[in-house]
Amino acid sequence: MRQLLTSVAVPVPLYRHFDYRVVAGQAAQLRPGLRVRVPFGRRQLTGVVVRAPFEAPDDGQDYRPLGAVLDEAPLLDPDLLGLCEWAAEYYRHPLGEVIAAALPGSLKHEGRAELHLPQQWQLTAAGREALAALPERHRAQRAALEALRSRALPSADWSAAAAMRARLGARGWVECRAVDTQAAPCAAAPTLTAAQARALAELECGGEAGFRVSLLEGVTGSGKTELYLRRIEAMLAQGRQALVLVPEISLTPQLTERLRERLGPRVLSFHSGMSEGEREQAWLAARAGVAPVIVGTRSAVFVPFARLGLIIVDEEHDPSYKQQDGFRYSARDLAIVRARRLQAEVILGSATPSLESLHNARSGRYRAVRLRERVHAQPPPRIGLLDVRGQALAHGLSPALLGALDACLERGEQALLFINRRGYAPMLLCHACGWRAACTACDARLTLHRGRGRLICHHCGAQQSVPKVCPSCGQSELMPLGQGTERIEQALANRYPRKRIERLDSDRLGKRHELERLLADVRAQTIDVLVGTQILAKGHDFPNLSLVGIVSADQALYGADFRAIERMGQLVTQVAGRAGRAGQAGEVWLQTHEPQHPLLRTLVERGYDALADALLEERAMARLPPYAHLALLRAESEDAALPLRFLRGARALYAPFTDVQAMEPIPSGMERRAGYTRAQLLLQADSRAALQRALAATVPRLGELPESRRVRWSVDVDPADLF
Ligand code: ADP
Ligand code: ZN
Ligand code: ZN
Repeated sequence: MRQLLTSVAVPVPLYRHFDYRVVAGQAAQLRPGLRVRVPFGRRQLTGVVVRAPFEAPDDGQDYRPLGAVLDEAPLLDPDLLGLCEWAAEYYRHPLGEVIAAALPGSLKHEGRAELHLPQQWQLTAAGREALAALPERHRAQRAALEALRSRALPSADWSAAAAMRARLGARGWVECRAVDTQAAPCAAAPTLTAAQARALAELECGGEAGFRVSLLEGVTGSGKTELYLRRIEAMLAQGRQALVLVPEISLTPQLTERLRERLGPRVLSFHSGMSEGEREQAWLAARAGVAPVIVGTRSAVFVPFARLGLIIVDEEHDPSYKQQDGFRYSARDLAIVRARRLQAEVILGSATPSLESLHNARSGRYRAVRLRERVHAQPPPRIGLLDVRGQALAHGLSPALLGALDACLERGEQALLFINRRGYAPMLLCHACGWRAACTACDARLTLHRGRGRLICHHCGAQQSVPKVCPSCGQSELMPLGQGTERIEQALANRYPRKRIERLDSDRLGKRHELERLLADVRAQTIDVLVGTQILAKGHDFPNLSLVGIVSADQALYGADFRAIERMGQLVTQVAGRAGRAGQAGEVWLQTHEPQHPLLRTLVERGYDALADALLEERAMARLPPYAHLALLRAESEDAALPLRFLRGARALYAPFTDVQAMEPIPSGMERRAGYTRAQLLLQADSRAALQRALAATVPRLGELPESRRVRWSVDVDPADLF
């Protein structure tokens, strides 16, 4: 008898799988989806079987023997393995690496896949008494206990540090117990408004089961989350599971909490802020069908489910759904692919849908479901343009915006200022000679972070201390130019010494639960002005804001990227949507040097939908997505000549594909980054299938080009930007 082989996907950057000789006794056990150890070069790696044992071809080749089989049952079920295979092919990424990305860290290697029931922390009776008696000055302990007062929390969601947990546990005030995943719902559902009831009926589609995608378009506060809940409840009642995707880790606690209030402790989260063990357990619980609902970020699209019936993609327009390095997948798009394979339902929700989704809804591929009004009958915000040309700006703030801010704070109300840049100033300039602080490794200026006393490159992370005198002319006339969040925060702190001004940007969010603390303070109205970046636009709920100021959005108007204005429109609309309180419309001001810009006018006068129409027309004429399909080949090298040379060689491979246009390779928008010179080649096709055919035939050959070993290259299918 001939020897038996099996094919294994190994986590290496190669576009193929590897065959191994099946050892006696293994054959009966081997099935696709099982993890196995395999010799690879001089290493031992963990791979996944992708093909059941088959007879070796008569080619006289000597195959290496398979190592240990790590799982009894396939770790990847056919749904997940199939999704990985689809994604590897579509995004032209090696399958072994795709599978590695789909597994939680602890299972990428030899870890045993063992499900323990999910655990959660709760307050004991002694803990309740202790909390009532504990003096105010024990703030940390009180806060830790408070968090558990109304409900039990899984480890991942309880903000107390490990030492604090141990201390409280030792006193018998808290305990960690298995979650009762069958627990009954807690809070009662509100009666739907007429608009919600109509929208729900459309989502239900007459009770029909099967694959469909609905685009639920509704402003913040229009009651989308309530509709998600109704669809999830309907799924759970049929014994099926639901996956809810959110764009940001910071949004998981808020939404998980809201779902738990209604659905009980059966809702688990899945994101990179959790420990490996917690992620692994949530992954296994979903796979076993024990966790009926998972709320997670991008990578949660790869969580296996026993009976998945519904995927919700909240804030579907958010660019974070697209992975920007390595395996460049779109979780939103994969959610749809996965649902189609499973005959499941998808709801895409947003106040500002992506142009792709709007186009699909208009062409009838998705059902368009709209919620036009806010639940609490609050008029939608109107955006006022502030023409700041020729105005005396104080740290970027015009007299009109400052006047509105004065009035708002005088009334004792809350304000929010949005600026899309962190740090103090994006440039440090010598007034005497014109020298500018620049990164030595990138084509970029260094951003001044005054609080830390550093100049930092936002592209490669390089840092240096702030010079006292100009390194070029020796004068001490160094001045910061432009503004970032830190500068606005400081300017406002000086102007309003009695008010509490806080900053919300990624520099501040290093600490676990910092965001939750800040948001809680905003809600408790102990913060008067919040200054922040796009984090503010991400669906957080600020119930008491009466003023929103957008310091500038002009950059997008001159931005080179084809999505820049779409993004700007989404950001401005989302940030503006935070304004307004109990029945009152908020005041929203947008500062600009381009008050006549037609697209900006369209946005403020006619709203996001009108802007989207105008942009879709432009895209149709320029043959850009959603009317055409793109892929970007990127290459970078320390040798400045190589990337373009490599890409010219690549371009030649596309000559036979007449239905795909391969553009002339060009230097990237930021040509040098982190010491590497970068270039790109854009591929454009009217049909997705044509583009896929060309990529399938050419990408495996890129590694054969003479420069390929000396450049780092990558393929980005459906790129989010063209930089
Ligand atoms: P969105 O997800 O669109 O921002 P939400 O579902 O969060 O909207 O609803 C906004 C607010 O209105 C929330 O505080 C929610 O609890 C409340 N709400 C939603 N639907 C109803 C309803 N039918 N009756 C009363 N309150 C509702
Ligand atoms: Zn100088
Ligand atoms: Zn740099």
